[in-house]
Amino acid sequence: MSLTKGASSAKLPSAVGARAVGPIVFERVFGLRPRHDDSGGAEAAPDSSCFTWQAARLLARGERRPTAMAYAELALRDPCCRDHDGCVFYALITLLCGNKFKLAALHCDLLAELPAWSANTASGRLLAALRARIQHLSGDPARALESFARAARGSHGQPPSSIAVAWEAEASIDVGDPQRALRLLQRHDRRGEKAGDLLPGSLSGGRVLLLAARAAAHVAMGEYSAGIRDYRACGQYLLANQLDNPSLVPWHINLGLAAMESGDDEQAKQFVTIGMRAALRWGAASEIGRALYAAIRLSGRQDITDVAREAFDLLRVSGAICDLLRITLLLGKVLAGRQQLPLARRFFHEAIAMGTQHRNPDIVRKATSALDEIGAPRRLTPQEFKITRLAAMGYNNDAIARILILARRTVEAHLSSAYGKLGLSGRRELADCYPVLQPEIL
Ligand SMILES: [Zn+2]
Repeated sequence: MSLTKGASSAKLPSAVGARAVGPIVFERVFGLRPRHDDSGGAEAAPDSSCFTWQAARLLARGERRPTAMAYAELALRDPCCRDHDGCVFYALITLLCGNKFKLAALHCDLLAELPAWSANTASGRLLAALRARIQHLSGDPARALESFARAARGSHGQPPSSIAVAWEAEASIDVGDPQRALRLLQRHDRRGEKAGDLLPGSLSGGRVLLLAARAAAHVAMGEYSAGIRDYRACGQYLLANQLDNPSLVPWHINLGLAAMESGDDEQAKQFVTIGMRAALRWGAASEIGRALYAAIRLSGRQDITDVAREAFDLLRVSGAICDLLRITLLLGKVLAGRQQLPLARRFFHEAIAMGTQHRNPDIVRKATSALDEIGAPRRLTPQEFKITRLAAMGYNNDAIARILILARRTVEAHLSSAYGKLGLSGRRELADCYPVLQPEIL
């Protein structure tokens, strides 16, 4: 605990408004330069004919996302950018950071047809890692792991890049195996690429991603102090290098959530607030959804229905299905903890359905056991079910009595019994949760 307290008093520098970022900064973080007409040096002139460089500068600052997306798309069609590994890589990374998963996958498919990007070249290995990353983020970490394994088999003994190792480790965490993620990172450490070896100003392509993956593995294993330490190191390194985009490495929100788990609400609030601001500035739906989830966790409010739905909707439209699955399960747990059982059940059912669809047995297993823990609602009688359905459709008690040829008092008695069985306080909640209760009460 002393580690986190000590760390929270150390101020992180702010990148926004600081000097303009140069291509070398990207090389420090990812190991490649995002500019085909770059003559080298951190202070390279901002005017450039490279569309990727225009995109990368906005990506670094985490602002004007639609313009960054437009530049990234131009870059992927531009013959000069397409001839340069770094330009292609950052154009695709920009698309991923803007939730354009399908478009990025399409460009990867097109590139894979070109000889320069064939599997046995360095560019081809980079492309394989990118394709696996897209599979992971858009909902299938298990398939991503198969792709990483296939890429390793076809690499003719070449060690994987730090970027590929970091992404493979994150996919392992999302299939529920953080131990494997740590083993992967340790094996890579022994090859000389140390995740913790982030000296300011050093060229350390991909190492900040290794560090972020290690942080996530620690947090997934409940080792919060170690996770917080790694996330803080990530944040300090990225900000010192003028990179302040939550989609590039989502360290703010993850640090806030880890601090919350370790009981340090003050630090949690500080980083969730910074993360929310950064997410809104960049405007990617996935980041705002994740930040909203963190804000829900932090708030002590009982009624979180609307915000939980908004977080869910944002993640769904973003196409970041892997985050959607994880956070749907977590939202269910928060709702269950605040005794909002019908909506919690709805989230668990959604997590089970989507987890099945996207082949994520870890999510299905966790959501099923969470659902068992809060217990299924008691079964309604056929008469209670009929009345509840009409009430949920908006009919008042008099109308229901007329439709079913019952006394109004009988309708009221049945409804009150049904509310008790379903754990609802009244009509408004019934309308909210009715669609998902149907399979349970039938
Ligand atoms: Zn270029």
